[in-house]
Amino acid sequence: MTTVAAYAAPAAKAPLERTTIERRAVGEFDVLIDIKFAGICHSDIHQVHEGWGEAIFPMVPGHEIAGVVSEVGPGVTKYKAGDRVGVGCLVDSCRECENCKAGLQQYCTGGGVGTYNALDKNGEPTYGGYSQKIVVDENYVLRIPDGLSLDVAAPLLCAGITTYSPLRHWNAGPGKKVAVLGMGGLGHMGVKLAHALGAEVTVLSQSLRKKDDGLRLGADHYHATSDPKTFEELSGTFDLILSTVSAPLNLDQYLTLLRTDGAFVNVGAPEEPIALNLFSVIAGRKTLAGSGIGGIPETQEMLDFCAAHGIGAEIELIGADEINEAYQRVQDSDVRYRFVIDVATI
Ligand SMILES: [Zn+2]
Ligand SMILES: [Zn+2]
Repeated sequence: MTTVAAYAAPAAKAPLERTTIERRAVGEFDVLIDIKFAGICHSDIHQVHEGWGEAIFPMVPGHEIAGVVSEVGPGVTKYKAGDRVGVGCLVDSCRECENCKAGLQQYCTGGGVGTYNALDKNGEPTYGGYSQKIVVDENYVLRIPDGLSLDVAAPLLCAGITTYSPLRHWNAGPGKKVAVLGMGGLGHMGVKLAHALGAEVTVLSQSLRKKDDGLRLGADHYHATSDPKTFEELSGTFDLILSTVSAPLNLDQYLTLLRTDGAFVNVGAPEEPIALNLFSVIAGRKTLAGSGIGGIPETQEMLDFCAAHGIGAEIELIGADEINEAYQRVQDSDVRYRFVIDVATI
């Protein structure tokens, strides 16, 4: 066991504070990672606030982890000391169910293990990336290509894959009109990735406040959803709408923006159920769907794609003593576009 410094919420809704945690000894197939950067995902805040159900405390959040391997177990074949690596939302899964075998570990039916706020196979709580080191089985570690800086790569491990996976699944590419709903941590990655995949990209945001950024990051069009004319003008336009919004939406209204056979895909997760008139999907044979992060092979594919296209997240680098302030700013939508903690400051 190794004792490492970390930032943890001692109880639900409590501010995060500096503490220490124990990391397990490096096992046969384990990789010990010196964490360099950890992104702040909105889901960290949902979980600290128990917005998604009862949680485990103390909680060390963080599932956008980038660092450097410092030690490997004797059975490890994929990584060696000095390699640049990342860890996302999963640190283990059953490896035997249909989904695990298909590389869709995020949908494991036999007991996936979250990077934090979960129990590992030995029943020990997992602790995330707001900490100096982490020990992870090599099969759940990703390689960060040389072309990507670790600080802008960290948010790719959740925000990047969460948007990349549905864009790929619903074939965003040349000839396709894709709308990204919401211009935050997830949304700005959706814009960059959909553009790099070759789609015609429209941002739908509450206001035009971030229009310049949206166009700079690759959007072809930018519309305010607070303007009723947007819904008239864009009726029947999109093949795919990727919703990154975690607030309740008028789905019936948004579904009018799809063309026949279009899909509205949720990656944002509101805490409350949402109402829907099913005629909104019956007319035009539309799909209302969801998508959760991505499996290990697709996460590696996304990192390689980002390196090939020079894509990283837009970040605000902060010290660990600024985490609580950053949480408030994320809730106020006051970040462009992802806070990343410099783990050297923990
Ligand atoms: Zn996340
Ligand atoms: Zn499984």
